[in-house]
Amino acid sequence: MSEKDYDQFNDIKHGSYGMFDNSAIKAHDSVRAAVTPGGVVLEFECQGCSGGQQLTLEWPEVVALKYGVDPAFVYRGRPNIVREPMSFQPIADENAWRPVAACSKCNWHYAIRIGFEEPEQWLMRARRSNYIPQENNLSQFCSAFANGNRPQQGMQPR
Ligand SMILES: [Zn+2]
Repeated sequence: MSEKDYDQFNDIKHGSYGMFDNSAIKAHDSVRAAVTPGGVVLEFECQGCSGGQQLTLEWPEVVALKYGVDPAFVYRGRPNIVREPMSFQPIADENAWRPVAACSKCNWHYAIRIGFEEPEQWLMRARRSNYIPQENNLSQFCSAFANGNRPQQGMQPR
């Protein structure tokens, strides 16, 4: 990302969110999350160009977030698990992850949030539909990273 874009992102004013707001994605009112066989599909409106956008989190990426590690860090160089793992940064103040992703149309860096508790909630729904038979293996993989590597080490922007 360019420096200019990063500053632009930091200028975004976020509302305050109560402790009891369980909505996963908090910066956009219109974000919708759908649990699908291929992962969680997030639909929202880009604040930069007002275009409709979609991000798909593959299930291995959701498992990584559950264990507090950046998918781009744990799956780097493992295209058999995730071909293009997305990078996320934790925002402790908001108890949420921020995807490090920009709009393909206007290059705006998305301001959406994923609550720390949300990955497990999505996984619970995925288990009921048997969308993620490999979850145990992924959990062991990610928990090893979580125990051996502080998440911050994986949070460097690519
Ligand atoms: Zn845009």
